[in-house]
Amino acid sequence: MTLISNDIDKAAAILSANDLVAIPTETVYGLAGNIYSEEAIKKIFTLKKRPFFNPLIVHIHSLEQVTDLALEFPEKAKMLAQAFWPGSLTLVLKKRPQVPDLITAGKDTVGLRMPQHELTLALLKKLDFPVAAPSANPFTHISPTSPQHVHRYFDDSLQMILDGGNCSNGIESTIIGFEQDEPVIYRLGSISIEDIQAVVGAVVIKNKKEDAPDAPGMLDKHYAPRTKTILTTDVNKSIQEYSGKQIGLLLHHSYEQAFNVKHIAYLSQSGDLKEAASQLYSAMHQLDHLQLDVIIAHRLPDTGLGKAMNDRLERATK
Ligand code: AMP
Ligand code: MG
Repeated sequence: MTLISNDIDKAAAILSANDLVAIPTETVYGLAGNIYSEEAIKKIFTLKKRPFFNPLIVHIHSLEQVTDLALEFPEKAKMLAQAFWPGSLTLVLKKRPQVPDLITAGKDTVGLRMPQHELTLALLKKLDFPVAAPSANPFTHISPTSPQHVHRYFDDSLQMILDGGNCSNGIESTIIGFEQDEPVIYRLGSISIEDIQAVVGAVVIKNKKEDAPDAPGMLDKHYAPRTKTILTTDVNKSIQEYSGKQIGLLLHHSYEQAFNVKHIAYLSQSGDLKEAASQLYSAMHQLDHLQLDVIIAHRLPDTGLGKAMNDRLERATK
């Protein structure tokens, strides 16, 4: 039986005994283990069926821990941490030798994030080690944004899910690395490019596998429902192409034109992109469980969080 509870003492005891706990964050649920325990970290890779070339993000609760884990803290990284931590930003920094190679896939950098979730921050403060916590889903599947999503994936092979409710942001962190101390976005995410640029000025984006040899794990296929999924700007045309099939629609907002389709998930009543992002994965989970032939997703506006959502949907449809 998996314990689903908000008991952080119990979660701390399990983590200290080299086992895993699924933890809530404001982005998605993570599958957490002690970064210094080879046993725990191997369990993460095994349970997720994640290849070892894909590095893990280390979750911290204080800026002092950056100094413990990273060799350098470039000026613009500090500005970003100041602006967005705790929050949905991962900084990839040169690592100290004590950070295990299993965490970083043998690279000389480590991804660090201070999540913005009260329960998880309280848990992290109780531990005398940081945790690695990739999204709590099997490799390439849709990320979980509720304890129920996690439980459905791992059933009873997980001792505990720390119940922190639904994730408020609902898509993964924005990942930023540094090349000659200048920020480079490796993964679009919960913090928009516009918000990043307001703090550090223009940034380069290298979020495609081809441009980003420094960010392994930027896979083409990712975040994927089991149901065939397509992304389109012309929903009517796609509905015609699949006529006679069981169709699910994933739409931005409820005042889009009426479609004669039984299963429709709306991401936001008012068309708000932040609300839409918070609902994206739960809507995908929901449609994926209806045994449909196809999910037709309407491409979102290409601004703010719409960009990150389109990125996820593109990878979901590969
Ligand atoms: P996830 O934890 O599943 O949201 O994904 C973690 C992603 O963070 C990986 O797939 C990498 O793309 C990225 N990442 C983590 N650590 C590093 C690192 N040291 N260098 C570059 N990218 C990293
Ligand atoms: Mg993931």
